[in-house]
Amino acid sequence: MAFLPFYIPENRQLKIAILGGGYAGIAAMTSILRYMPEAVITLIDPRSQHVKITHLHETFRYPLEDVLIPFGILEERFGCRHVCTEFTLKENTLYQWQNDKSIRLDDQIIEFDYLLIASGAASKKMDVTPDVVTLQDFITLSGADLLSSRLDASSAQDQPISIIGGGATGVQFLFEIALFLRRKKLKNKLRLIDGGDRVLKQFPEGFSSYTQSRMSDQGIDFHPNTFYHGQVDGRIFLEERGGRGRFDLPSAMSFMFLGKKPENIFLTNTFGQVLANEFPLENIFAAGDCSSYNKFGSNVMSAQSAVRKGKLCARNILRHSGRIKVLEPYLHRDLGYVVNLGPSDAVGWLGVEGNVVTGMPALAIKEVVEIQYDLLLTGTDTYLI
Ligand SMILES: Cc1cc2nc3c(=O)[nH]c(=O)nc-3n(C[C@H](O)[C@H](O)[C@H](O)COP(=O)(O)OP(=O)(O)OC[C@H]3O[C@@H](n4cnc5c(N)ncnc54)[C@H](O)[C@@H]3O)c2cc1C
Repeated sequence: MAFLPFYIPENRQLKIAILGGGYAGIAAMTSILRYMPEAVITLIDPRSQHVKITHLHETFRYPLEDVLIPFGILEERFGCRHVCTEFTLKENTLYQWQNDKSIRLDDQIIEFDYLLIASGAASKKMDVTPDVVTLQDFITLSGADLLSSRLDASSAQDQPISIIGGGATGVQFLFEIALFLRRKKLKNKLRLIDGGDRVLKQFPEGFSSYTQSRMSDQGIDFHPNTFYHGQVDGRIFLEERGGRGRFDLPSAMSFMFLGKKPENIFLTNTFGQVLANEFPLENIFAAGDCSSYNKFGSNVMSAQSAVRKGKLCARNILRHSGRIKVLEPYLHRDLGYVVNLGPSDAVGWLGVEGNVVTGMPALAIKEVVEIQYDLLLTGTDTYLI
């Protein structure tokens, strides 16, 4: 059992419920078990598998099974219990949970000493027609199968394929799709549509110039300042800001990556305890994309921040349950972020945001980060904090 500073245990078998078995939930669970192997952990998640979502775009090259870990395996490995259900979280429910220290599900009541909410953030949505693919579709079919089957069914099979959204997710999928089309010798052109004036606009300018030059090398069209209105019967309907107004183009299918919705985000204090009417609910914590911490660390919706918040909540839950209740503030700053441009190229920043790295060095950084998380899933914690 590892040593946790400022933790003098009182109860050695806490009951902990974790809502959401993504990056934050799993990081919290493994950390709790590191310091309290006898903890009774219930993981509540509507999916039957943990999704290593940061690898989802790679399913154009690898089987989908490579990025899914059935919760049954995690139950065996970590001795937790998975309850496969979903429920809507509301502020009054939180008060009730804090008072009752239990969650009522359809057919059972789950008692807890502490609850961690780690339910992630939902993707932004627009109306989806049969020729439109969203991120959610990749959880049931690999990229390769999804693209092939939708192309076969399309009324405009040989026409260009449109990617909507030039953020990190859209760009990572774009380059994988480009490679897939080349490997399969499919002639469809690719186009990227984005409402902003450059791709990856949440990152420094260097990200955009590098990525756009790689897109142009591969013959991918870029439509900046352009809004998507829908895809029907082999045509995509667009509107260019300040330019030619509304127009439509032939399109075999559209992939929609519009980013995360800033909804159902739980505000917490700096220790990760959820705030309700500005007061902390002492036994309810939140971590990951569904949380916004009140200073000082990073609230970026990234796997790195999700893991660090999950681990911090685990340590603070244990300390709060102990004799001295000295909690640790959230100070984590992301050390970098890398966007893959296919399997052999990437662009990212390291250390400070202006320090843009590209190519092999960027790929190597990403590889290290991914290996660290894979190790965590096997029960080996190599994170320094
Ligand atoms: C394609 C892609 C690539 C990415 N690449 C990177 C990257 O390279 N680096 C990086 O740092 N970040 C990356 N991200 C972002 C990163 O994946 C997220 O920031 C991270 O997954 C957030 O972790 P989380 O635990 O908060 O949420 P998630 O990992 O999304 O997990 C949330 C879990 O909660 C469950 N859930 C949802 N609603 C409920 C409910 N009501 N009750 C119970 N359970 C619920 C879900 O089923 C899911 O299992 C990428 C994202 C995508 C989509």
